[in-house]
Amino acid sequence: MTAASAPAQPSASNGEPASSNEMAHALVDRLQRGERRAVADALTDAERGGEKSADLMKMLRPHIGGVGVLGVTGPPGAGKSTLVNALAEALATDDQAHGLAVGILAVDPSSPVSGGAILGDRLRMTAANQNRAIFVRSLSAGGHLGGLSPAAARMIDVMDVAGFHHVIIETVGTGQSEVDIAAVADLRLVIAAPGLGDDIQAMKSGLLEIADIVAVNKSDRPGAEQTRQQLAGSMSLKARGTPPPVLAVSAQTGSGLNDLCTLIRSAMAAKLAQPLADRRRRRARYLLAQSANLVIDRALNDADRVNDIDALAGQLLDGEIDPVKATARLLKS
Ligand code: GDP
Repeated sequence: MTAASAPAQPSASNGEPASSNEMAHALVDRLQRGERRAVADALTDAERGGEKSADLMKMLRPHIGGVGVLGVTGPPGAGKSTLVNALAEALATDDQAHGLAVGILAVDPSSPVSGGAILGDRLRMTAANQNRAIFVRSLSAGGHLGGLSPAAARMIDVMDVAGFHHVIIETVGTGQSEVDIAAVADLRLVIAAPGLGDDIQAMKSGLLEIADIVAVNKSDRPGAEQTRQQLAGSMSLKARGTPPPVLAVSAQTGSGLNDLCTLIRSAMAAKLAQPLADRRRRRARYLLAQSANLVIDRALNDADRVNDIDALAGQLLDGEIDPVKATARLLKS
């Protein structure tokens, strides 16, 4: 049962049913104590969005400490889940004295909206069950009215207040939204693997541009070193400044994992040295830009306005209207 569906609890003071405000306060208290059940309930509220979520976020705001968020993405089959589990185990040992150490938000692109990301949960829960310092939550890519990234950003705040020391957000790097969501993170790790063929080409054109660190997983397999060299080569051609490091690792044998963890820790420490207000402002602005794109996209695809939109596009093409005015007219429905 979630907080959303829980019956009103009698308030301690006067025996009256607790108001939703009191219940939200109680949830925040339990969250700050790091209760797993409270984390699960608050994540559900945050994911849903709407008024209840907005109230919760307001209450959380004063307690936000600015947890470091590692975004992990890469093509399907590269070994993201395996590697994320291994990384979480390693990062959790940093903080074993504290209850909840590593929170994983795993975006599952294939799961049905209503059913949640059940398969992903089942597979991943093994890691969480074995290590109580790790908390795994899957979220389906579809069905978020305000967009996936804002939902993920709210869920990160929940994990932040619950005292997690690291949050990992994992997405499948096959579409724009997955690249976008990686931008919610402070540090981005892109995972590749040998033998992915076309996916590696796709990575060269899109995913690699967002990478702070690239890991070529499955280094126990033939071809891994070749893939690493290819990627390192194309990164150094494209990079404006210092190209991101490209490491070979094996989530299965553990080879290279220590080096990857060391790199992640130091790169994250550098990101976290930036003022929290700046980091949050950047994240918020990015989310706003994404929302603006979402609104424009919806307007452009409004089936009831096909003729108007075609006429407007024609005027723009002919130079009869400037782009800013055309966009304003598009959004005036
Ligand atoms: P994802 O789709 O990117 O999340 O990939 P998974 O983590 O589900 O892994 C895909 C497959 O690759 C699974 O069969 C894993 O067992 C396997 N795998 C993951 N990491 C390694 C590795 O380092 N070496 C080898 N040989 N196989 C791996």
